[in-house]
Amino acid sequence: MTEPVRTEPAIRETVYMDYSATTPCDPRVVQRMLPYFTQNFGNAASRSHQFGWTAEAAVDQARQEVAALLHAHEKEIIWTSGSTEANNLAIKGVAQMYRQKGNHMITAVTEHKAVLDTMKHLEGEGFQITWLPVDRKGHVDLEQLAAAITDQTILVSLMAANNETGTIHPLATIGALCKQKGVLFHTDATQATGKMELNVDTQHLDLVSLSAHKMYGPKGVGCLYVRRKNPRVRLTAQMDGGGHERGMRSGTLNVTGIIGMGEAARICRTEMATEIPHLAALRDRLQQRLLAGIPDAVVNGDEAARLPHLTNISFPYVEGESLIMGIKEIAVSSGSACTSASLEPSYVLKSLGLNDELAHSSIRFSLGRFTTTAEVDFAADRVIAEVLRLRAMSPLWEMVQDGIDLSQVKWTVH
Ligand SMILES: *Cc1c(COP(=O)(O)O)cnc(C)c1O
Repeated sequence: MTEPVRTEPAIRETVYMDYSATTPCDPRVVQRMLPYFTQNFGNAASRSHQFGWTAEAAVDQARQEVAALLHAHEKEIIWTSGSTEANNLAIKGVAQMYRQKGNHMITAVTEHKAVLDTMKHLEGEGFQITWLPVDRKGHVDLEQLAAAITDQTILVSLMAANNETGTIHPLATIGALCKQKGVLFHTDATQATGKMELNVDTQHLDLVSLSAHKMYGPKGVGCLYVRRKNPRVRLTAQMDGGGHERGMRSGTLNVTGIIGMGEAARICRTEMATEIPHLAALRDRLQQRLLAGIPDAVVNGDEAARLPHLTNISFPYVEGESLIMGIKEIAVSSGSACTSASLEPSYVLKSLGLNDELAHSSIRFSLGRFTTTAEVDFAADRVIAEVLRLRAMSPLWEMVQDGIDLSQVKWTVH
């Protein structure tokens, strides 16, 4: 791959390794969007003149591009403001539409808050929710999933890949199970786009949430794939109004954002085959260096079934927040952007069985299209130096060096 051009030299001093929180726009995406702010500013719903037709044609092209990424039909794409809205529309839309059929839904404890909180909301309205636990690698037990499905179950919602650990769920197997049981399957594929194969037919996906800003498009736009046949999925609209998007999501379309998302999807689709191994090589290089340079560092999640751009590593005996403060030249996160505002340890890592201390000492490194080898090496050197520096000041680390088993220590509070 050619080394891509950076668009923002001003932030060059900081190495960006938080691509799972958001990505910069690909410059090609911005170029594609620009004319639609000024000359071609029409409302895609204006059917009576050229301005509207031009906007509508561009929106339709974007629809085809996003559909192509999922091997879907363009009529199955419903534009939204992002994945949070897409998840709400999928889950609440199914819950309300299929309430006569049943009131039970299944999800996992490691889902994004946009799924968990939507499910909680519905639980408050009387729906039964099964919250599947996960194993050490972040996988649900497929037998447990199968056993949880009853004749009251209307929806299974399990993400394609986890935003904190990168663990990939076996979509085709889960999809086949849901299809066999006659239950709809929704997947939040926000982190997966462009980083793994997504195919609504072979993976039996009925509803898929995507977000542009996790795939080098602009913020504030996304979509929900809604299957049109075998079975035809129906949804209760969450936004009432002009009846846009086949009545499922009213509101004037975000034409520029949608065009950006379409171009982002085109680039993901056409470059995935080279981009995935490139990202995996950079990620592996970073991970190997960190593990080699830092005793007792451990990788969280499933190293075999994992997104190619991400590694989540625990650095025992070091406090994650202190580490992040100590490496200000590197933009990383502990946990997801949504929960890292609070100092709570990540609920995802705790669900994997990590204790509070270990969860607190974990960092997510997520690389992307504009990451260079030089940045990887710089980040590895800085993190190693900082972890070793913090450990040198840590009484816990000193005890470990003296051969004391910390789990056997009886702590007294004075
Ligand atoms: C970022 C993210 C979301 C939220 O997407 P927005 O478009 O920012 O609302 C939902 N799910 C996952 C897995 C994410 O990573």
